[in-house]
Amino acid sequence: MISSDSKIIIVGAGVFGLSTALWLARGGYKNITVFDRCAFDKNFYNPSNGCDGASADINKVFRMAYGEKMDYQNLAIEARDAWLSWNKGIAESAAADLPPGLTPEDKLLYICGCYFVAKGIKLHDFYAESLDTMEKTAPEMRKMQFIKGDEKDEELLSKISPKWVEKYHIVDGINGGNTNGFIDINGGITIADKACVYARFLCVQAGVKFVLGEPQGKLETLITEHNGPERRVTGIKTCDGQSHYGDLVIIAAGGWTASIIPEAHRAVETTAGTVAFIDIPKDRQDLWERFHPDNYPVWSYRRGEGDEYYQGGSFPITKEGRLKFGFRGRKFTNFQDHPTEPNLRISTPRTKYTKEPINTVPLYGLKLMKEIIAQALPELVEFGFTDSRLCWYTDSIDNDYVIDYVPGYSDSLFICTGGSGHGFKFLPVLGRHVKNQIERTPNNFTSLWKWRVVEEGKLNNGLEQGETGPREMSRLEMAQPHDFMFKQAGLSSK
Ligand SMILES: Cc1cc2nc3c(=O)[nH]c(=O)nc-3n(C[C@H](O)[C@H](O)[C@H](O)COP(=O)(O)OP(=O)(O)OC[C@H]3O[C@@H](n4cnc5c(N)ncnc54)[C@H](O)[C@@H]3O)c2cc1C
Repeated sequence: MISSDSKIIIVGAGVFGLSTALWLARGGYKNITVFDRCAFDKNFYNPSNGCDGASADINKVFRMAYGEKMDYQNLAIEARDAWLSWNKGIAESAAADLPPGLTPEDKLLYICGCYFVAKGIKLHDFYAESLDTMEKTAPEMRKMQFIKGDEKDEELLSKISPKWVEKYHIVDGINGGNTNGFIDINGGITIADKACVYARFLCVQAGVKFVLGEPQGKLETLITEHNGPERRVTGIKTCDGQSHYGDLVIIAAGGWTASIIPEAHRAVETTAGTVAFIDIPKDRQDLWERFHPDNYPVWSYRRGEGDEYYQGGSFPITKEGRLKFGFRGRKFTNFQDHPTEPNLRISTPRTKYTKEPINTVPLYGLKLMKEIIAQALPELVEFGFTDSRLCWYTDSIDNDYVIDYVPGYSDSLFICTGGSGHGFKFLPVLGRHVKNQIERTPNNFTSLWKWRVVEEGKLNNGLEQGETGPREMSRLEMAQPHDFMFKQAGLSSK
């Protein structure tokens, strides 16, 4: 069991690593060092400047709707308060007291509303369950959720502000208006890159040390000692040849986690989400205004099942004029040789910044995104996508996180990952619960987040498919430059 003097090494300064470091340091642990191969002290988590972890992004959805998963819903409610207090802390700070990249005007959580939409008139099961869970467990929050197409709800919204009614009708163009859903006016977006900058700043204030950038911040291998059948991880070797020893090594390396802990490939798998951007020209202030978070909510749309399945969404404009669109109806794998384990192939992130860079996305999702955007927002068709990104999830077998000691290492190696596309919103609070798992203080998350691996003969969130599965990127058609335009696809609204 570790103590407050134990030397703790954390690999990965994304959401999972940062939040863990923050809560351990605030909880009295005095000797914590976080390593990351990205020089976040210089590039400030900017995804256009060398950062390719999932946390390094311009924005992420902040939602509290979690279907029947009450534990995550309540964690999101807890996180919301924490985000708002971070907003307050920043607003009340003098500019000189904030880290580079942040000003007192910055908000990390923007309550622009979070709109959940699905095809057809009947309320989608997940949405109905979400509303029901909220009603039963947090009725005050439920009062801020308004069902699409419900006259009474529209009237209630208009009493709060006509702005919300405009937002309520923002996606009426999808599927000819034949859609269902609800808007949560307590939800919104987090400004992801700035949020990570702030969390790292809080970590430093709490005494956490960081070793960032290559080669010094990049783990090359774990240092493992064998004593008969017993194994212990005693530290890490970084790419500058240095060895760093510790009492506990926590791997929070997102999509790269299984590259570091080979046995984790049966617990988590990295898959690519399709992200595309439209940069709105400066002379189109009408559109800057229209997509401003004061006027435009974050929304997501679902339709179909199986191969027909669509799930994707749209974010308000950034301060730089960038609109982000995501598609997660199908996520893609990229199988490669494992860096240390012979005869093992695992899905591995490939990004703009990896050794073999990639500057495009699978055509499959891009085509579908164009179809939905042309329906919802025909005024954007003339621009086409101006940029794209493969953003790498770390999927567990059931979308619950994997936060536990790795079996067989005498409590010297801890895994902290499995974000499964929904971890960002918990940045300010996740570490509180990670600390409980490290200290073996059981709580409602202990069984959800325990170490578990693929169960043979069962569906395991895609992990059962392997390299021969239909999501493997090497066999898919990738988008060509002309595919990023809408008009060639015959989707012009004009
Ligand atoms: C497309 C997409 C959309 C998403 N949308 C949302 C959303 O809207 N809302 C939400 O709440 N969540 C969302 N998520 C989930 C959320 O982004 C993740 O759960 C979260 O960011 C994961 O954080 P992490 O710390 O596990 O991983 P990462 O952010 O990937 O961090 C891992 C870090 O490990 C470092 N690393 C890797 N290998 C090494 C090494 N060898 N040595 C040193 N460092 C290393 C990397 O550089 C990286 O910084 C989304 C995820 C994706 C992929």
